[in-house]
Amino acid sequence: MKNLARSTLIALVIALTANMVQAKGMPGDPDKLFAQLDTLLPTPGVTRAASGAPGAQYWQQRADYRIRVSLDEKRHRLTAQQSITYMNRSPDTLNYIWLQLDQNIFKDDSLARRSEVAANSGTRRDSVGTGDSLSFAAMRRHQAFEDHEYGYEMSAVRDAAGRVLRTTVNDTMMRIDLPTPLRPGTSIEINFEWAANIVDEAAIGARGGYEYFPKNDTYQYFLAQWFPRLVAYTDYTGWQHKQFLDRGEFTLEFGDYDVELTVPADHIVASTGVLQNPAEVLTAQQRARLKQAETAKKPVFVVTPEEALANEKASISATRTWRFKAANVRDFAWASSRKYIWDAMGYRQNDAQRPFVMAMSFYPNEGEPIWSKYSTHAVMHTMEVYSRFSFPYPYPVAISVNSWERGGMEYPMITFNGYRPTADEKSGKLTYSRNTKYGLIGVIIHEVGHIYFPMTVNSDERQWTWMDEGLNTFLEYIAELEWEENFPTFGDKTNVLDFITDYMQSKDQVPIMTNSDTIVQFGPNAYSKPAAALSVLREAVMGRDLFDHAFREYANRWKFKRPTPADFFRTMEDASGVDLDWFWRGWFYGTDHVDVAVGDIREYQVSTQDPDVEFPLKRKDFAADWPESYSQRLNRNEGRQTRADRYPELKDFYNENDAFAATNKDRNEFKDFREKLRDWERTVLDRSIKAGEYVYFVDFRNLGGLVTPLPLTLTYADGSTEEYSVPAEIWRYNAVEITKLFVRKKRLVSVELDRNHLIADADKNNNITPRRIEQSRIELFKGRDRERNQMLDALAELTGEPKAEKQADAKDLPLQPAAK
Ligand SMILES: [Zn+2]
Repeated sequence: MKNLARSTLIALVIALTANMVQAKGMPGDPDKLFAQLDTLLPTPGVTRAASGAPGAQYWQQRADYRIRVSLDEKRHRLTAQQSITYMNRSPDTLNYIWLQLDQNIFKDDSLARRSEVAANSGTRRDSVGTGDSLSFAAMRRHQAFEDHEYGYEMSAVRDAAGRVLRTTVNDTMMRIDLPTPLRPGTSIEINFEWAANIVDEAAIGARGGYEYFPKNDTYQYFLAQWFPRLVAYTDYTGWQHKQFLDRGEFTLEFGDYDVELTVPADHIVASTGVLQNPAEVLTAQQRARLKQAETAKKPVFVVTPEEALANEKASISATRTWRFKAANVRDFAWASSRKYIWDAMGYRQNDAQRPFVMAMSFYPNEGEPIWSKYSTHAVMHTMEVYSRFSFPYPYPVAISVNSWERGGMEYPMITFNGYRPTADEKSGKLTYSRNTKYGLIGVIIHEVGHIYFPMTVNSDERQWTWMDEGLNTFLEYIAELEWEENFPTFGDKTNVLDFITDYMQSKDQVPIMTNSDTIVQFGPNAYSKPAAALSVLREAVMGRDLFDHAFREYANRWKFKRPTPADFFRTMEDASGVDLDWFWRGWFYGTDHVDVAVGDIREYQVSTQDPDVEFPLKRKDFAADWPESYSQRLNRNEGRQTRADRYPELKDFYNENDAFAATNKDRNEFKDFREKLRDWERTVLDRSIKAGEYVYFVDFRNLGGLVTPLPLTLTYADGSTEEYSVPAEIWRYNAVEITKLFVRKKRLVSVELDRNHLIADADKNNNITPRRIEQSRIELFKGRDRERNQMLDALAELTGEPKAEKQADAKDLPLQPAAK
């Protein structure tokens, strides 16, 4: 029965035995779904407390860097001298330390390249084909690898005394054996030189590299994972030296950086850190403009579009050294080009330690006009929103660089972001799509957001992508809704919970709790599903007050520290008093989706049990349930008389009284029933009857498997509505089907689940009783004959004027526009 049951009477029963049906052995075993997580989580200890906070003896290592690097623009090559001071703050004695050589991923024999499946042999932006297919981009990448040697050329590694240390390279990792073990509380300095060819990012697909601009034959460089970095040594996994396979990003130690960047003299440099020698590298005018930007009401050009355009035309062979220092960062990235426009605007925040931050953007003229309009505003907006959910922005600068056409990547204080307008080939007229506009704002919010997660809340990216991408996408979504209403974050959908349902019903799913490099369906798994989960948690499970407090607590407990998933799960419960084990289990450890169907609703009013009141009602009910026989009706219509009609003397007591006629015995029993009721029972009965209370039993069936709260909209006959949220705990005895009791003074006409799209329920059609007829429009179509008529096709005129020699060249793939 799909619709509301018609009014029936229900007798109050004296004793009610709660006898819940257990759904043993089904996918929705409640004892499994609601089992506490303790068995899956690491045992708390001295470094990580059971509350989810850092433990009393929490420790982490530290690595300080001094680097002098030169950019050779002719050879697209970096050469560097590097020194690392590594402090062992662990309780362990280390016989060796590990260095990560990320650029080695581009070597021909790297684990990443040799283990690449055919479908992934294109660049990061390549659409992955199925079957035997090869894109232009994949062939271009193959040729770029053929033409260049990538990876580090390393000198010997020496200690502070100049002694050469034994090293062993294993793919993207290098072990440095220490002549004397590094005891707890001591440090070691290592020194070495290295060189590396910079990858052509457009051809190779990478998080850093160079970009070539054929129009004016010049380049921009954006350098990421560009120098050898210390591998993290942690209390939970020892050395985190899982090889760099591309997806699993970077797990790093905090430290101070002192970096000298020697670049062509006409370059503008954007970098992690604070510029130490502005008088040597900036003009007096640029320095004055920067000063002006500190208090400006809108972004101020430090280098104007016109100046950048003039700059990119003149190429100089002299060099200049920019020196940056960065304190307490886990990485260091920079960008350099003669093409950069530079704008800046001061950001003030309520933080005694860091009341002022400079927001800045660097971009070529190709990014205009949208970059000067949106970039720095997006940087400022991110800090405003994210700080509310975590902590004040922790660094002196926040930078957005336009380093590629689309996509983005994050580093401490600096982010590389995509999206540019399109110039019409003939007229040169600039236009940009809706996708470009919101893609640009969105990617900048996302990447600057990463300066909080994981650049400050330093989660292990090589192990868990969701801990940075998921949390960050969740906050990005909040920030985007605060940028502009109906911000199209998820394609044409503005609600992450509507976007995620297709993925959550798809095959080939792995749980969110899957290692970064083995995730299938990477984007929805590591970005949107955790963002959707946190959205459900905030708006439908915990409510904003409890969620926001707990989330801020997590961020503050773990800022400049290294949280694991358990620390997040535990802190969210610890700070809110909400048992969320079922939620982590379902959303993070499982692959079920949310689909709950609202089933039957049965309506009752309480019976007086008085035969003179109830029997007539029962008679009506009986007649409605069991109408007279159709044959009898036809007989009557035919004028057929029954024998009893023809011989009235055959009628007796039973012809006068049907089964529903009350007898004195019934009346005596009713009197007896009332007398035997206790006083309070009689009061309950009389009050309920007087109020005319309606009793509803509403069935719900869990079709998706994921247990969920049930935000309900109850609509009454008088047109009024009531929002009623059933917590997910209702599924704890039976996770497949449950019945909820409602007693109301008003008559209910419908029950709707998730009217406000709060729980990612995948099938909206079964969310209301009585069901609605879905209304839509249908387009008529013509059948088409698709048969190829080759003889007719051969008669078609050739379009264009292909020259004979062009035809001969036709097998050459037009990979790149010819360089000027
Ligand atoms: Zn991200």
